[in-house]
Amino acid sequence: MDGVGYIYILESSSSVHIKKIGYTRRHPDIRLKEWQISCPSMEFRLRSWFKCTHVKETERLTHWILATRKLRTHTCADCKRRHRELFVLPETNDTGLTVALLANLSLLN
Ligand SMILES: [Zn+2]
Repeated sequence: MDGVGYIYILESSSSVHIKKIGYTRRHPDIRLKEWQISCPSMEFRLRSWFKCTHVKETERLTHWILATRKLRTHTCADCKRRHRELFVLPETNDTGLTVALLANLSLLN
């Protein structure tokens, strides 16, 4: 069964509209530090996170909800890796992000 973990949202300091959404089974602070080391050019900071069960399924659903806002996978000029799971979202606070997610969820009804 899918286990407990964290959904995290990282925000890029170089562009506040670009957010990385992923999941981790460790604390998001640890994941953030890994990102900061592997790709310094994104200047990620931890925007938000929540703990949940079925974390992989929750991430999949979140990505699906935001599919139209997904940034095309591209090779990073800085770290030479292909960055995935990046989304273009409005500059907003945590409440705004929550509303955006819930508003899109309601479209499923
Ligand atoms: Zn990079």
